[in-house]
Amino acid sequence: MTASDCPHCGRRALSPSRKLLLGPSASIACRACGRRVGVAFGKAWLALSPGLLVAASGLLVAHASVRHLPMILALDGLALAAMFAAYAWWVPLQRR
Ligand SMILES: [Zn+2]
Repeated sequence: MTASDCPHCGRRALSPSRKLLLGPSASIACRACGRRVGVAFGKAWLALSPGLLVAASGLLVAHASVRHLPMILALDGLALAAMFAAYAWWVPLQRR
């Protein structure tokens, strides 16, 4: 059972990229059985929390000196990559 498997039928409900477009409160029809599935709410918000850090670092950039900019942008990139990976492969699907 992977994080993209349908909780109704056990088959693959959607692609990881489609899952990224699905918000924590939205639901989608499983492409195998057609019943509604959505991401697990608590884990979804936890997975999206690096996005808040990236937003916070935007404020930091306004005050930081230019030589710190590449480091901040690199950390932002890492945080976003971790966020997308966690959302696609760690947050399970639930029945809706
Ligand atoms: Zn299904």
